[in-house]
Amino acid sequence: MPLRALRFGLCQGLLARWFGTRRGASTLDWHGKISEMKKKIQSILPGGTWDQLNDTGHLPPEQADVVIVGGGVLGLSVAYWLKRLEKQRGAIRVLVVERDHTYSQASTGLSVGGIRQQFSLPENIQLSLFSVNFLRNINEYLAVVDDPPLDLQFNPSGYLLLSSEKGAAVMESNVKVQREEGAKICLMSPEQLRYKFPWINTEGVALASYGMENEGWFDPWCLLQGLRRKVQAMGVLFCHGEVTRFVSSSDHMETAGGEKLTLKRIHEVHVKMDHSLEYQPVECAVVINAAGAWSGQVAELAGIGTGPPGTLQGIKLPVEPRKRYVYIWHCPQGPGLETPFVTDTSGAYFRREGLGNNYLGGRSPSEEEEPDSGNLDVDHDFFQEKVWPPLAQRVPAFETLKVRRAWAGYYDYNTFDQNGVVGPHPLVVNMYFATGFSGHGLQQAPAVGRAVAELVLQGRFQTIDLSSFLFNRFYWGEKVQESNVI
Ligand SMILES: Cc1cc2nc3c(=O)[nH]c(=O)nc-3n(C[C@H](O)[C@H](O)[C@H](O)COP(=O)(O)OP(=O)(O)OC[C@H]3O[C@@H](n4cnc5c(N)ncnc54)[C@H](O)[C@@H]3O)c2cc1C
Repeated sequence: MPLRALRFGLCQGLLARWFGTRRGASTLDWHGKISEMKKKIQSILPGGTWDQLNDTGHLPPEQADVVIVGGGVLGLSVAYWLKRLEKQRGAIRVLVVERDHTYSQASTGLSVGGIRQQFSLPENIQLSLFSVNFLRNINEYLAVVDDPPLDLQFNPSGYLLLSSEKGAAVMESNVKVQREEGAKICLMSPEQLRYKFPWINTEGVALASYGMENEGWFDPWCLLQGLRRKVQAMGVLFCHGEVTRFVSSSDHMETAGGEKLTLKRIHEVHVKMDHSLEYQPVECAVVINAAGAWSGQVAELAGIGTGPPGTLQGIKLPVEPRKRYVYIWHCPQGPGLETPFVTDTSGAYFRREGLGNNYLGGRSPSEEEEPDSGNLDVDHDFFQEKVWPPLAQRVPAFETLKVRRAWAGYYDYNTFDQNGVVGPHPLVVNMYFATGFSGHGLQQAPAVGRAVAELVLQGRFQTIDLSSFLFNRFYWGEKVQESNVI
């Protein structure tokens, strides 16, 4: 990196000298004007230029106000909103600690990039509505002076959810909620389905819901890189290392019911440096647990869930890695460009991938079928036995498909109710969660980052009330049930 930067700097110097001697004083005026314009633009946009030399990837600072564990889409979104909502530029020192800068196992890059409003919980619908607006205006939010605009490759195709007779009433009431929240969703009968999508076999379908705007899919990697570039330009520090320990102080108290509680506050985060046995301590005021599928483990490092069973101290963060397969197939006779993101009555789903009759899809396994999450190997039999048969029944053209490639990734799976966990831990008072979205975290990241930043900076949710996603619900046994988890 320094070599590249040096070469680049040298090149710029030579070019400047060349122009200077050829064109004389008028070029200097021109350069002066350009640099003034750039300064003006920089003063208007939040964040400055993205200077790769500021990448502090080697060592963390000794002190940061907020340490974010995990540099995936959720961690970066929290970082972005903390800087964007800070009252004064440079007011908060934010450090993102990411153990794998290639993101080889992170959920974000391995996801299928879908965004929809077809949820049953108002909170999930609102989160996705906020996020879709963010995505549509991505170059207003994430512009960086001197860098090219982002191309998210947003495909504005609706989701098409199919329901059997059994699920039709629930689908109808979900659509009612979606419309109340402002989403444009229509219900379709089997006849209407056949008319609009003649390649669908409607056997066993009683009702369908179809998103008419603000749904589709995009390139997750582009969002991740765009956020990373932007937050670095805004002054967020990065460190390549693994958080392995928290040092905290404790206060003991007793509740009115006589339960003894220990309140903890984290003072120091230990970061194990890459390829080293050494760790670096970082003093901090707030920790954000955005470690995705591994956030349950990170919570445990802070003592969460290590108390006696049945007590608040004994309640774990119920988020763990669950392996999900994605298959890409080619089918020359398959449905065309108008193909929506289809989820079948069986739970199998697919969407178009590019323009060349390629498709991407999969299916979440049942509890009994859950594969071993110890590696990311793909089970090709799962496609043959569990995905292909229902899809070929639904879209007869798929009988002749050929699988081209496949991959596996981890859902940040919340085993309690498959919904996000947002906000502070009741006992480890300065650890905040932004995790557990179980298959819809990518699309909700822009809004969740904002919600967490609001809590940290202003002490309460301002834009979307996510109180029902707080950790306390695990203690009270109150599930927030989302019926549309794919
Ligand atoms: C196959 C598949 C399809 C999906 N499809 C969709 C979809 O269509 N739409 C949608 O919205 N969502 C989808 N998702 C879910 C979505 O990808 C996730 O919810 C989201 O990416 C989670 O983001 P994250 O930042 O929390 O996690 P990640 O991207 O996994 O980032 C967490 C990071 O934390 C780091 N980390 C962990 N522990 C430590 C530590 N101790 N120290 C330092 N760093 C640490 C990890 O290295 C990782 O990079 C899908 C997921 C999968 C697997």
